[in-house]
Amino acid sequence: MRWIGLTGGIASGKSTVAQILRNRGHVVIDADEISRQMTVPESPGLKSIVRYFGTGILAPNGELDRKKMGALVFSEPKKLAVLENVLHPLIQAEVRSRKEALQKEGRAVAFYDVPLLFEKKLEPNFDDILVVTTDLETQKKRLKARNNLSDTEVMQRIENQMKLSEKEVLAHFVIKNHGSIPDLEKQVDEFLEKLAAGRR
Ligand code: ADP
Repeated sequence: MRWIGLTGGIASGKSTVAQILRNRGHVVIDADEISRQMTVPESPGLKSIVRYFGTGILAPNGELDRKKMGALVFSEPKKLAVLENVLHPLIQAEVRSRKEALQKEGRAVAFYDVPLLFEKKLEPNFDDILVVTTDLETQKKRLKARNNLSDTEVMQRIENQMKLSEKEVLAHFVIKNHGSIPDLEKQVDEFLEKLAAGRR
């Protein structure tokens, strides 16, 4: 089974491409969804997080307060390392088991949508890497509209990541999401044709 990493930049269109791929019958595993699943109430992941960070990190309903957690690790890199050390082995084991199940099903390809693939140096885990990119102006406009952010917040979030142009260079496949949704769908279909033909 060809195991393909799907990545890009914030608001470059990864989730939109993931949805198009799913509409075409492909499986796309979502790293964020797995991360959330690993921290549901009563999970070993959430229990470990509470052990390290205290019950103050929980929302009143007993779920992880993701905003609080985000703010805490954003301001203190050591805390981010602790969080990652707790979560990564759990996430990796879950991904491995889902991947094995897909292999048993006899799937020829499967995708893993992981926003910080390059930043986390995950390249060796994949047979191919697909990067969804866009131009900076479009990225800013879409991020601002989707997350209701100020111009400064938009720039901070974009500058916090590796440049899209650098990610493009490292990709095996690039989809340029500057245009309309039908244009994006066309590019996804062309990509799938190349993939089926064994080309890069
Ligand atoms: P990512 O998953 O990379 O953060 P999304 O797929 O959520 O990005 O796209 C960011 C925003 O831009 C979303 O609101 C999405 O609906 C919108 N969007 C994505 N691609 C297009 C497009 N080609 N035309 C118009 N809007 C788009």
